[in-house]
Amino acid sequence: MVARRKTREVRCGNLVIGGENPIWVQSLATSKLADTEAIRGEIRRMLDAGCEIVRVAVFDSRDAQALGEVKKYLGGVPLVADIHFNHKLALEAIERGADKIRLNPGNVAGLRGSFEAEGRERLRQVAEAARRKGVSIRVGVNSGSVEKDLLEKHGWATAEALVESASRHCEWLERCGFRDIVVSIKSTDMEQNVEANLRFARLNDFPLHVGVTEAGLPGYGTIKSAVGIGRILLEGVGDTIRVSLTGDKDLEVRAAFDILKAAGRRAVDPEIVACPACGRIAIDLEKVVNEVVERIRDVRVPMRISILGCAVNGPGEAAGADVGLAGGRGGGIIFRGGKILRRVEESEMAAELEKEIRSLAAEIESRRGKGAVDR
Ligand code: SF4
Repeated sequence: MVARRKTREVRCGNLVIGGENPIWVQSLATSKLADTEAIRGEIRRMLDAGCEIVRVAVFDSRDAQALGEVKKYLGGVPLVADIHFNHKLALEAIERGADKIRLNPGNVAGLRGSFEAEGRERLRQVAEAARRKGVSIRVGVNSGSVEKDLLEKHGWATAEALVESASRHCEWLERCGFRDIVVSIKSTDMEQNVEANLRFARLNDFPLHVGVTEAGLPGYGTIKSAVGIGRILLEGVGDTIRVSLTGDKDLEVRAAFDILKAAGRRAVDPEIVACPACGRIAIDLEKVVNEVVERIRDVRVPMRISILGCAVNGPGEAAGADVGLAGGRGGGIIFRGGKILRRVEESEMAAELEKEIRSLAAEIESRRGKGAVDR
């Protein structure tokens, strides 16, 4: 596996982004902050799904004032305020307890391609306030937000233009003496998204927040995100991720954890490997796999579980997993840690697998301490 890229560490509330810290999962609430009931319920669902960094849009001063209240029901999970165009909102959000501000220095400061414009004083004020309060800043560049002079220079929002835009914003912040910067570069064009992120990652040590912007509805949007984010993660790049789906945010969070797990970058629960079944199958594999998934829903310990239908690949895969089952006619063989444990009947498979999974989870927890364990 490609080694994770080394980045500087940037604090975000009680988490540290970058370095050797886990790749954190974040999501953006859709409810308006003024609608207290709605935002509270939505954040509850995001947290229940495991969201580790919560971002909210701050549209006006009323939203900025509501941030203090929102923080009360986050239970310590860091809060990011997403701000555009108005540096006063950024100052207010910092004052109200935001742990990180997501902004585009050019658009909040009114800078248009040159730091020597009148907006630099506005950016300096934001940078100074953030530094005083220990608040980090995410510079967020999207294909739709590239400045006019860069569009003219590159012809359109190419990967080079996105990288130049992000680099320029970081440089402006650093010229204000501010270093706690996380960067995101997003494009709806997959090729460009990947190229821009990898290109930027080679140039500096800023932690990167990775996503595919406006991915769409959960079905296709999750696949598109898995392709785009996964490709970047496999290159060792990415320090936080977000899956941008149209719909419930808990789906985004679950999809993000699944992408991290599938990319082999972070697992907080078991991975189940199951074969697709074919004409050789002699058991109801789908029923067994679904029953195992239901039975171990609460297990928050990473491990590899293999459930295969027959003797073709079953024994090899099961022996390579932490817990495995190789199916056969009316029954199967249970493996643990590469060793054959026993033969079980088809009706007992799910329960017997659960027994081994829970016993292994308890062993791992006692070795590494209680709670979720990152691989
Ligand atoms: Fe078919 Fe066996 Fe492969 Fe499953 S493991 S797909 S049953 S050959």
